[in-house]
Amino acid sequence: MLGLMQDRPLLISSLIDFAAQYHGDVEIVSRSVEGPIHRYTYIDANHRAKQLAEALGALGVTLGDRVGTLAWNGYRHLECYYGVSGIGAVLHTINPRLFPEQIVYIANHAEDRVLFAELTFIPLLEGIAEQLSSVEAIIIMTDRGHMPETSLPNVYCYEELLAAQDGTLQWPGFDERTASSLCYTSGTTGNPKGVLYSHRSTVLHSLSSCSQDVLGLSSHDSILPVVPMFHANAWGIAYAAPMCGAKLVFPGMGMDGASIYELLDTEKVTLSAGVPTVWLMLLQYLRENGKKLPHMTRTVIGGSAAPASMIEAFENDYDVTVIHAWGMTEMSPLGTTGNLKAKMADLDYSEKLLIKGKQGRAVYGVDLKITDDDGEELPRDGAAFGHLMVRGPWITNGYFKSEGGPVLDADDWFDTGDVATLDGDGFMQITDRSKDVIKSGGEWISSIELENIAVGHPEVTEAAVIGVAHPKWDERPLLIIVRNEGSTVTGKEILNFMEGKIASWWMPDDVTFVSAIPHTATGKIQKLQLREQFADYKLPTA
Ligand code: ADP
Repeated sequence: MLGLMQDRPLLISSLIDFAAQYHGDVEIVSRSVEGPIHRYTYIDANHRAKQLAEALGALGVTLGDRVGTLAWNGYRHLECYYGVSGIGAVLHTINPRLFPEQIVYIANHAEDRVLFAELTFIPLLEGIAEQLSSVEAIIIMTDRGHMPETSLPNVYCYEELLAAQDGTLQWPGFDERTASSLCYTSGTTGNPKGVLYSHRSTVLHSLSSCSQDVLGLSSHDSILPVVPMFHANAWGIAYAAPMCGAKLVFPGMGMDGASIYELLDTEKVTLSAGVPTVWLMLLQYLRENGKKLPHMTRTVIGGSAAPASMIEAFENDYDVTVIHAWGMTEMSPLGTTGNLKAKMADLDYSEKLLIKGKQGRAVYGVDLKITDDDGEELPRDGAAFGHLMVRGPWITNGYFKSEGGPVLDADDWFDTGDVATLDGDGFMQITDRSKDVIKSGGEWISSIELENIAVGHPEVTEAAVIGVAHPKWDERPLLIIVRNEGSTVTGKEILNFMEGKIASWWMPDDVTFVSAIPHTATGKIQKLQLREQFADYKLPTA
């Protein structure tokens, strides 16, 4: 017997409609590419998203067409999120930090018909325009006064296109499983692969994000997503904030400590989200300038492991609770968040810190398990580690155009490529990407754990650990360090600092210093490149 409840489709347009209707006067504040701070409300955003949808319709964009964006976090990008998906077209957010040839590859693979581009990216586009085989129109995200001289063909001015429309459109209805947006994984090996979200998966993910034990978003929040809208939908915040009527604050291209701090302060930001490298810059700025964060209550850290030293700095020095989160583009992206359970409230801070250093516990909607090489499930004892498998309604069931073939096993489990432990309370800890684990004498050493401990040394800016060939043990860890400016700390001093914090056989065999560690387009340490760079490295123990 079927239930007798309404089967209304879960559509992305309902999020912005809701925000305009019930939180219409709540502000969206953006640092614009043109310079000034821009402010308006959810009513304005919905109206302009509808104008944008009408303009796309006039250009012939229809259900299922892909529309690319090369844009920062800002109000016009938000209008694209709703204007494109709202009419059933597919918003393809392109990561501008990819190599130009990768951008060409993904725009062609996605068959983007229209491309929105912010002023910053015009030179990049001019360099690749001839190779973009499907793009019929390029919409420059600015007003007439800022339109650049350009060699690009078929160029339109964003504000002029909007001004020609009246914004009276009613968002259309369609199947909630309709594709809504497309985001390519950065593809450290091989070509990037497209993850195609649906309206349903996006709305369900937003409901989960807002809930108290996940990100706990509400209409009382002022949220600054530092994580880019071109990286897994700013971790879903661009959808979840309108769902709960939270104020949005967009940093544009100002990602440095001073620019971020200014917005956190003036816009009374209560919650922010970003990768550890961004928070390193902010913490450094706060320390050097004696600033505090009186409005902020919590920050979400994910994308890479949040070191204990960073969690402690936010919580003890700035009274900001850290929500350590884990997920991936393939998961919309949230999988786990690290809010403590009630029974943990009275633990010593040092014990809490051990739990907060883990990547968190599963949110409702995401199933987790760990398995051995034969696919057998491993115990949830916090010690056994294995392949982290996930399934749920906002997790991919295959890449766009079947690139890479089937990705699920017979029971729908998706292999994340991460290696992790799970404990009895459901907290998961990533020990490594499976391709980055160091295999020493048949046992695994976690590069992430070594890095987290090494960056706790006060003179270390950044640390990376890779496995280097060893005649007896196959591989042994090499610690690669970026020292603080002016520091002369030695490898021996860093190893002394690490001693006793890990099993002795995990201790790196050597320490080497570099001026910078390479990062991927999504801010992760580029291990592949480091392994190539140090391929011939001779360990003193070899
Ligand atoms: P990319 O496009 O670079 O793959 P994703 O955000 O999809 O970007 O990357 C997902 C991967 O990032 C995860 O599989 C995991 O390895 C890593 N990751 C994400 N969050 C964390 C975290 N909190 N700690 C450690 N690793 C993380």
